[in-house]
Amino acid sequence: MKFLLDRIKNGKDTVKNPLKDNPYSYGRIEVCKDNCTDCGKCVQECLVDAISIKKNTEHNKVNIDKAFDIELDFKKCIYCNNCVDACPSKVLKSSNDYKMASIEILGQEVKEKIYSKFKRSLVLRSVDTGSCNGCMMEVANTQNTYYDLSRYGVKFAASPRHADGIVVTGPVTLNMKEALIKTYDAISDPKIVIAVGSCAYSGGIFKDGYSVCEDLNEILKVNVVIPGCPPSPQAILYGMLKIMNKASERK
Ligand code: SF4
Ligand code: SF4
Repeated sequence: MKFLLDRIKNGKDTVKNPLKDNPYSYGRIEVCKDNCTDCGKCVQECLVDAISIKKNTEHNKVNIDKAFDIELDFKKCIYCNNCVDACPSKVLKSSNDYKMASIEILGQEVKEKIYSKFKRSLVLRSVDTGSCNGCMMEVANTQNTYYDLSRYGVKFAASPRHADGIVVTGPVTLNMKEALIKTYDAISDPKIVIAVGSCAYSGGIFKDGYSVCEDLNEILKVNVVIPGCPPSPQAILYGMLKIMNKASERK
């Protein structure tokens, strides 16, 4: 009774559509103007080599007035905004676009296989291979009452034997490599590997650390990458729903 009265008084905390854009969404760095002068300041400021500038060989041809192309690796990027602040020509800007999760395995047939196997429910085991805890906190936040990831059929299991896949956060450290492989081996086929955060994808800011070994992709075949440092709960939720082919149903 007390619980019911509390609900009537305070309503519910869970957001109806967690994927709806809001002013606090954050994500993709956008190239918003074509006036790059190749000063290289953005490249110098980037700690993770996520940005590069290429001379546009087609420059001066009809309808092509860009002298330089800026390439940004969204999976490596830690969204520090250093490049945005450093650019004197204001070519770059941060955006609210958090929908950056990508399915890595190429080929429509394989994508459809993933969608058909996991479209109703997804049970995951998380392994922190050496994170700063930022990504782990955001993964945990997807399960709070506000985002309530479990309403879409996504749950986390204590045992890898009950899981369909593995969520990896942090760079793969020497001490955690064996535990990672053992956890992966304990999951039955078919199984998926989800890399959450730039550290899990490419080592992030810890890439050259003494305790970090190979990239996750060199140890296990990564199926889904959710970029960010850390990715927001919205971005993680979007990635999970993308695996289940449900992301486009919610706008
Ligand atoms: S936001 Fe930071 S990490 Fe990303 S490209 Fe710019 S400087 Fe590099
Ligand atoms: S990606 Fe960023 S938040 Fe996540 S573990 Fe690495 S440093 Fe921490």
